[in-house]
Amino acid sequence: MDQPGTLAWIGIGGNLGDARATVEQAIVRLAHLPHSGLLRSSSLYRTAPIDSSGDDYVNAVALLRTTLAPLGLLYALQAIELQHGRERPYRNAPRTLDLDVLMYGNGSIASTELTVPHPRMAQRAFVLVPMLEIDETVEIPGLGPARGLLTAITDQPISRL
Ligand code: ADP
Ligand code: MG
Repeated sequence: MDQPGTLAWIGIGGNLGDARATVEQAIVRLAHLPHSGLLRSSSLYRTAPIDSSGDDYVNAVALLRTTLAPLGLLYALQAIELQHGRERPYRNAPRTLDLDVLMYGNGSIASTELTVPHPRMAQRAFVLVPMLEIDETVEIPGLGPARGLLTAITDQPISRL
């Protein structure tokens, strides 16, 4: 029988403090998110900052099934960011924890607070590689299979931790 809810892909990243521990704890918090279940989480990856500064990032991706509405999910993710001391001193600043809604089902959303699919996800190896680890056949609404998008960004170094 089909489970209720929508499949939501969450991007996880951090490069301040013990980023590896933070990302692991964030995955545990995602597993406890209300009205949601954690279906899969990827390995952790190390990546160089893109349009940002500071240390290398630790990144991962999680796949949830949730009955939270898109904005409810965003606010729940922002609450987890705050629990990890997330500050936003300036755009693209180094961050303890960044949680992004990458995809929410097959939906497209363009509001001031939330754009889904995440506008830059197709150009980021730190998103596509962990997603493909979870599902080789995953497709991004409007853009097609993630596997094909990866060929354009083979220059972005990414290593599995
Ligand atoms: P970054 O774009 O580097 O992840 P922030 O995490 O500081 O930057 O997010 C800035 C704003 O982006 C948030 O306040 C949020 O409202 C908005 N936003 C738009 N679309 C999304 C999305 N898909 N996931 C997360 N935040 C989003
Ligand atoms: Mg963010």
